[in-house]
Amino acid sequence: MGKLEIHYIQQAFDSNWIAPLGPFVDNFEAALQEYTGVRHAAVLSSGTAAIHLALRLLDVGPDDYVICQSLTFSASANPIRYMGATPVFVDSETDTWNMCPGRLEEAIGACMKGGVLQAAGRDTSVALKAQKPKAIIPVHLYGMPARMDEITAVAKKYDIPVVEDAAESIGSTYRGKQTGSLGTMGILSFNGNKIITTSGGGALLSDDEGYISKARYLATQARDPAPHYQHSQVGYNYRMSNLLAAIGCGQLKLLNERIRQRRNNYSFYYRLLENSRGISFQPEPEAAFSNRWLTTILVDPKNSGGITREDIRIALQQEQIEARPLWKPMHLQPVYKGFPTAGGKIAESLFNKGLCLPSGSAMTDEDRERIAEALMAVFRFM
Ligand SMILES: *Cc1c(COP(=O)(O)O)cnc(C)c1O
Repeated sequence: MGKLEIHYIQQAFDSNWIAPLGPFVDNFEAALQEYTGVRHAAVLSSGTAAIHLALRLLDVGPDDYVICQSLTFSASANPIRYMGATPVFVDSETDTWNMCPGRLEEAIGACMKGGVLQAAGRDTSVALKAQKPKAIIPVHLYGMPARMDEITAVAKKYDIPVVEDAAESIGSTYRGKQTGSLGTMGILSFNGNKIITTSGGGALLSDDEGYISKARYLATQARDPAPHYQHSQVGYNYRMSNLLAAIGCGQLKLLNERIRQRRNNYSFYYRLLENSRGISFQPEPEAAFSNRWLTTILVDPKNSGGITREDIRIALQQEQIEARPLWKPMHLQPVYKGFPTAGGKIAESLFNKGLCLPSGSAMTDEDRERIAEALMAVFRFM
């Protein structure tokens, strides 16, 4: 937290606006619109809720296909199941680690003509019914923008809306535009693990006012305009509280500083490890600027003299330093066994070799020294 957040919370208390509406909700929405360049924003209880609402707004139902990047956190895909729809997972490409545009087109093709795709986690294939997918969910993993030019071109060609999962990438840009502003709708997360946080929270973004006003309506139990409680649709309790929006207003002012700190973390690891054989980083393509939410590396034992991702993770753990493998791809998750998948080998290989290094905004020079020593020890003694 910075210094402003507690001040804003005090203001919210003083005004007695503790409800899931109030001036900070409006201010946070306006500030997000200004920062991202998207015309309309609704702040919500979580990023997951934002994806759920986006799919609801696109009329996703039990008979539908929704295409989703496989290498991501489960919250990108779970809302597809909330709607009863079938996720179709798409492999990553090696440059950004995000959705592969070629595999995306292959997945759409298989859906449209009733072809076959591989079954996740099985040695069989799945026969699809001939039906156009209802939405495409690309993710900007660890802050790195996906190849949105190519993804958008494929989406336009088949006229399929894009729901951009920018939960990890607030402040990242692609060709100078903010991630979250590049699709039909975009979602952000302010969960505690993200680069800025309201402890828990999210937002739905769109240039289409119709979507966002309907999202606000559905997020407040779909209450119709009447003096009594009247409902003509099933709604949700998904709005962000004025208190948390107060934190959000303070946090958003810190975002550029947080990005600077996270990018410094990246530079620190890059300088430390760039000459270590078998180690590579998530590259930043020319068109992209990443907030570097987390610094991630790939460890290739074929070139590192046998050192694996697990060797490094365990060596750090022995020094009480936590590092984690990359997200485990959805097509390898028990819960998504049997669902259709276009490719998957690249996501799987990234998962096997990838490690997220300590990346907090508040890391001190002493923290960095301790991490550097632990990392260098792995290379010295193995
Ligand atoms: C965090 C995250 C979400 C979900 O956000 P919550 O606010 O935690 O619900 C969705 N997608 C990705 C890629 C995330 O990292």
